[in-house]
Amino acid sequence: MVDRVTEPPTLNVPPGYLNIMGYVDESEANGPGRRAVVWVQGCQRECPGCFNPSSWSFETNQLISIEELAEKIASNSNNEGVTFSGGEPFWQAPALAELAKTLKAKGLNVMSFSGFTLDELRAPSAPPGAIDLLAQLDILVDGPYVESQAIHDPNSPVSSRNQRVRVLNPEFENRIDWASDRIEIHVLKDGTRIITGFLGQMGLEDD
Ligand code: SF4
Repeated sequence: MVDRVTEPPTLNVPPGYLNIMGYVDESEANGPGRRAVVWVQGCQRECPGCFNPSSWSFETNQLISIEELAEKIASNSNNEGVTFSGGEPFWQAPALAELAKTLKAKGLNVMSFSGFTLDELRAPSAPPGAIDLLAQLDILVDGPYVESQAIHDPNSPVSSRNQRVRVLNPEFENRIDWASDRIEIHVLKDGTRIITGFLGQMGLEDD
């Protein structure tokens, strides 16, 4: 039987590009310090209580080249890093690994959320390129959001008790200082508001 969560989805993304749901230039609610956040488009899990159901579709939403996104992220000198969220970042692992490599070469650190567990990402059945992306990460928050195990603690860096913060670079052991319940609202030029931080996810509102 095909497992709809682990069976590779059909991606219509040209090489060298990412299909993203959104991008925020500067955030303090999605990882250590100030960082850019990239929400990729597409996730098959459909977790009840997901704060971001509009990220589920794998249809093309916003295509952006790795090069352009790297330039955007690196142009904000306030940021120490970037966080990948979703959607499921690991379904676009090869492109994110390339983006991460470019940004790490510029001195930025890289963190990612994933609905997969670390063991699943290291298994032969992992999404293509998962090992390459893991090799670039300083921090991984793994595991899907499980509503029945939700945590509503302003000091918790994860949203449900099954999730784990995996410090993949020991330099970040004392940097687990963000809170998943913290909410930020960003107003974009077109009037769209992005609400981020809650459940480590993103919501969109039109004016
Ligand atoms: S909570 Fe995360 S893993 Fe679950 S459906 Fe939403 S984006 Fe996907």
